[in-house]
Amino acid sequence: MPSPRKSPAANKSLRTADKLARLGLSTDIARVLHLPLRYEDETRLHTLQEALKLGGMTVQVEGVVTECDVQYRPRRQLVVTMAEGGDTLTLRFLNFYGSQTTQMAVGKRLRVRGELRQGFFGAEMVHPAVKSVETGAPLPESLTPVYPAGEGLSQTLLRKVIGEAMSRIDWSDTLPDALRTSLDLMPFEAAVRLLHHPPPGVDEYLLGERTHPAWVRMKFDELLAQQLSMKRAQAARRQQGAPVLAAAGAITQALGATLPFALTGAQQRVLAEIRHDLGAPFPMQRLLQGDVGSGKTVVAALAAAQAIDSGYQAALMAPTEILAEQHFRKIAGWLAPLGVRVAWLTGSLKKREKEAARASIESGEAQLVVGTHALIQDDVAFERLGLVIVDEQHRFGVAQRLTLRNKGLGSVPHQLMMSATPIPRTLAMTYYADLEVSVIDELPPGRTPIVTRLVTQERRDEVIQRVRSAAHEGRQTYWVCPLIEESEALQLQTATDTHALLAAALPELQVGLVHGRLKPAEKQQVMQAFAQGALHVLVATTVIEVGVDVPNASLMVIEHAERFGLSQLHQLRGRVGRGAAASVCLLMYQGPLGPVARQRLAIMRESSDGFEIARRDLEIRGPGEFLGARQSGQAMLRFADLATDQWLVERARDVAQTLLSKAPAVADAHLARWLGAKEDYLRV
Ligand code: ADP
Ligand code: MG
Repeated sequence: MPSPRKSPAANKSLRTADKLARLGLSTDIARVLHLPLRYEDETRLHTLQEALKLGGMTVQVEGVVTECDVQYRPRRQLVVTMAEGGDTLTLRFLNFYGSQTTQMAVGKRLRVRGELRQGFFGAEMVHPAVKSVETGAPLPESLTPVYPAGEGLSQTLLRKVIGEAMSRIDWSDTLPDALRTSLDLMPFEAAVRLLHHPPPGVDEYLLGERTHPAWVRMKFDELLAQQLSMKRAQAARRQQGAPVLAAAGAITQALGATLPFALTGAQQRVLAEIRHDLGAPFPMQRLLQGDVGSGKTVVAALAAAQAIDSGYQAALMAPTEILAEQHFRKIAGWLAPLGVRVAWLTGSLKKREKEAARASIESGEAQLVVGTHALIQDDVAFERLGLVIVDEQHRFGVAQRLTLRNKGLGSVPHQLMMSATPIPRTLAMTYYADLEVSVIDELPPGRTPIVTRLVTQERRDEVIQRVRSAAHEGRQTYWVCPLIEESEALQLQTATDTHALLAAALPELQVGLVHGRLKPAEKQQVMQAFAQGALHVLVATTVIEVGVDVPNASLMVIEHAERFGLSQLHQLRGRVGRGAAASVCLLMYQGPLGPVARQRLAIMRESSDGFEIARRDLEIRGPGEFLGARQSGQAMLRFADLATDQWLVERARDVAQTLLSKAPAVADAHLARWLGAKEDYLRV
């Protein structure tokens, strides 16, 4: 049967609908909340004579075309000359349609807008916006909005669909008047209309800075919706059943008794918080934050012990093989002697080993499972999963964390997420609003602070000498190669070259190399050799960034430190300073440094406090980069800016709390409006 043919018009509109959908603009409310990126000022017209004096600025002028030619030198281009009152202006179009020669034919009157500059042959504009007009055609009265647009969606079309949507939606304010005025917020309708069509005389500066009261209203509404949905999700979580992992039993106690050290006060405090949650009949969702080296692993092991004591399984997932392997060795080293059966599951296991691991997980034989992403594969089923621990949680996407959580059959396991990247308060209140947070704010005793120095690349020979004398004193060195974002191959090449160079410069020392492309077994071998002291120097790419623990390494060299993010440098630096020896971190940089780069490296030299560094990093780089591609990829906040709108975040949080307890119907209406505009605020 032949498929029914659609008329070309229907096809075209279907394509438009698709394009709108791709921008998330399927519903009227989404279209109405698609706010301008910026505005163009077409309300003013300059005479050519005035405009010529304003060289370098964007201006709007009119004139009559006196010449219109396609030229071929130096390259094909359309060159139009227009004149007004004895002055002339040249327009240049490097890409153009044939139809434009008609639009701009000699004798036509044009209104053009663009940046005017003095070219070789007098004043010119390259690629101005052009309109044919009659003499005396009226100017728009308000600024012209420019919307975020997708491929194939013109501003004209967006203006039209947004205008249509505005005539259809229910404009009622989701905030009751009394609440709105007490918060000093503009009414919703007035704010939205102003942003789409700023009236004459509006404060353009505030509009551009997005600090105009109309923007403030939008940001507040957005943040309120986010807070409401997070709090709802949190409440829903409390309705789900989770296994009650009763207070510590035999294994927990035995582990506590056999640890080679006493827990710090901070470790004891966070452990008490976790224990309390594990004993509740609804799932814990707790983020354990602690600076590098603060001792999160032992807390995780003690939490796992509590699950096992209660007859449940615990799973620990780490973002890399190296890290997972290290946890496995450490935690198994503590728990296996106490009779706990620990399984190991990663992608690199042989098929038969993998099957055996899966079987022991499924039968409940394995009480603790340590591994990588392999743990969240479909074919892994747990018998009685009670606790999920995710290390370096920011390395995982939300979906991945969810998958592991959903592996608890029947009930939802408790979840403990760990992170050494301290999350500044504003971020914690938005991106992580549904998490409880525990903080280890104290390092184990006996650590000597790390001294950080900046050295230029030119002093590489001295740095190598330093590595040599460290080795002769029995201390080990990490040598970290620069991050080359554009190319993993290039990064690898640099690491290989550096390794060859150091091996040649330090013939009497053992120099190892570890990078992301090594087979897991090879990687393990190198790491193990380093951990056992068989290697003096370990040349590494950023694969060692997280979690690796070799207390005897006390010198770290980071090449091209200026290319790293501050939090990442802090993570890297945290690989040393883990033993009793005084540690040194040398940040090598390629001079000359710009002022920002200089400031950033100075922060590293001055501060060893991860929270302080994260806060400054956030100031300099903004939250998107701070969170890394994984999390910012689902940019949830379109209007609010976490770096500058903290006060609004706090206000929205308080209002959300009040609405949920005192006016749930208002909360419903607000969520309906904003979730209708965007569906993924929810991230449990
Ligand atoms: P991180 O928080 O970065 O994951 P780790 O858990 O790897 O830190 O701990 C860093 C080092 O400190 C490990 O060698 C660990 O055994 C040790 N450690 C942890 N807690 C204590 C403590 N209370 N006293 C002494 N050493 C500790
Ligand atoms: Mg760790």
